[in-house]
Amino acid sequence: MTMDNTDCIFCKIVDGKIPATRVYEDDQVIAFKDIRPKAEVHLLLVPRTHIPSLNELEVKHEGLISHMLLLLPHLAHRQGLPTGFRTIINTGPGGGQEVDHLHIHLLGGNRLPGF
Ligand code: IMP
Repeated sequence: MTMDNTDCIFCKIVDGKIPATRVYEDDQVIAFKDIRPKAEVHLLLVPRTHIPSLNELEVKHEGLISHMLLLLPHLAHRQGLPTGFRTIINTGPGGGQEVDHLHIHLLGGNRLPGF
């Protein structure tokens, strides 16, 4: 359970109230396929708890954010991306964030555009 934000689409995915193609989950996070993939592989890694963005991240979350970062290479490897991947965290309206639940984009594969 996310304990919170009833209007948050990613909380609903965490709680299984709307479907998503999950590729990984544990007690702290879930990863699922982005519904509008911008690359051959496009995952979203989200905490189960509702943290709106990096702007609201607190020191008490350091274990969680470390866990998320350390998971990324494993997720990429499992997606068949041995040579590397891209991560993006959009933060706030100025950063182009559309869903206000902290998430890390993991992108890779043949259709990865230049940056
Ligand atoms: P943001 O711009 O960093 O907030 O990215 C939000 C991402 O969530 C976008 O890439 C969307 O395609 C993706 N997204 C929105 N709704 C869903 C959904 O229901 N399932 C999976 N991905 C979603």
